[in-house]
Amino acid sequence: AVSIFWFRRDLRLEDNAALYHALKSGTPVQPVFIFDAHILDELEDKTDQRVTFIYKALEQIQEQLIQLGATLDIRHGEPETVFKTLEKDYDIQSIFLNQDYEPYARQRDNTIYSYFKEKGTAVKGFKDQVIFEKNEVLKNDGKPYTIYTPYANKWLSLVTPFFLKPYPTKKYWAHFHKCRGMQFPSLQKLGFKSTNTTFPPESPDSGLIKDYDKTRDIPGIKGTTRVSVHLRFGTISIRKLATRAGKLNQTYLKELIWREFYQMILFHFPDVVDTSFKKEYDKIQWRNNEKEFEAWCKGQTGYPIVDAGMRELNETGFMHNRVRMITASFLTKHLLIDWRWGEAYFAKKLLDYDLASNNGGWQWAAGSGCDAAPYFRVFNPYIQTKKFDGDLKYIRKWVPELESQDYPAPIVEHDFARKRCLEVYSKALKR
Ligand code: FAD
Repeated sequence: AVSIFWFRRDLRLEDNAALYHALKSGTPVQPVFIFDAHILDELEDKTDQRVTFIYKALEQIQEQLIQLGATLDIRHGEPETVFKTLEKDYDIQSIFLNQDYEPYARQRDNTIYSYFKEKGTAVKGFKDQVIFEKNEVLKNDGKPYTIYTPYANKWLSLVTPFFLKPYPTKKYWAHFHKCRGMQFPSLQKLGFKSTNTTFPPESPDSGLIKDYDKTRDIPGIKGTTRVSVHLRFGTISIRKLATRAGKLNQTYLKELIWREFYQMILFHFPDVVDTSFKKEYDKIQWRNNEKEFEAWCKGQTGYPIVDAGMRELNETGFMHNRVRMITASFLTKHLLIDWRWGEAYFAKKLLDYDLASNNGGWQWAAGSGCDAAPYFRVFNPYIQTKKFDGDLKYIRKWVPELESQDYPAPIVEHDFARKRCLEVYSKALKR
């Protein structure tokens, strides 16, 4: 008999909660990864960098496992169907997995839970990708927080070394199921092509975390840690990162708490996926002009900071946080285009795309989210530039034709757009 450990957004052998419990259980552990057909087959871009990222992470895990005389079993398909095949291939005693809080993942996991429940096979879920999950950080009245600052304060008051302790998985690595010769499907076989992206290092420099307050808002320098993709796919442990943050810089730790805040919001209020957190914002009469949307996507709005951001995104799959805020505000407020359009575009392009943070960030910018920017705050792209890219280093990098005739005129005049936005918003919100 074997226990199955199902890798999902926790692609590492070290300090992995469910893997630790699986290895300790005494039954040999067979690790499995499923390229979920629901997700993979929906990706239009066959050179999607995220698939390459996952593939590389799996290759690294495979190398480690081979050293231990074990092999990762990689499958492709619809998870329930895959598990039915796995049942034929293994005598499964139990299944171990780490919780995922996205609505699709919860529904998928519930199917697996019920399928195996009927058969008397235990499926055991663990908290791994956050320090606090579900109902662990609640208001005194037992309800979930909807405002970040009190949430963060409660989070900080609850965190003790216990919650940050790494799971010493390595001690039990000998407990993997020994087997050889399992085929590792090629990316081509999965219908994808590898990209030659250089991914950011998993472990950020301590200096970067220490100086974070001074550097975080300047897109023209390497002032943020670029760990988002690693947190997304679990190639870094949140416990390890939060421990470092706690020692080095409280502001940085608070950013990690924003991530948990949005995960918690998505868990408690899953309808934010389709609707505004503040329901009255769904009454806004969006203009939804397709030509303007296209200009925004391509970085051709004539607003240099917006265009630089969109071009950085298109070319690299990353955009600096300050610029994500500016481009999102511009789309929703200057162009009055539904935040869901922008959210979907980011979801397609961002290497670190994460439903909870992306939805949270978009609803924040549109004003419709929990604890969002007030509706009357319309970022002025010129002032933002002056404050955060005064030397135009970032803009010049992504918009080299800035001073030439080829650069488009502003798609809409700022003061006009601001006024129009306030009128449309106040009409919908009756303010
Ligand atoms: P750092 O500044 O070094 O921060 C470290 C980590 O803290 C990040 O990796 C991230 O996990 C967390 N963090 C920092 N800021 C935020 C924040 N505002 N919200 C949530 N977590 C945060 N982040 C994603 O991971 N995926 C997304 O899809 C995503 N979409 C966004 C969309 C919009 C419109 C906005 C305004 C923000 C979005 N963010 C998203 C949050 C933030 O922009 C990125 O996490 C950050 O830019 C990643 O770069 P970094 O790792 O260098 O961050």
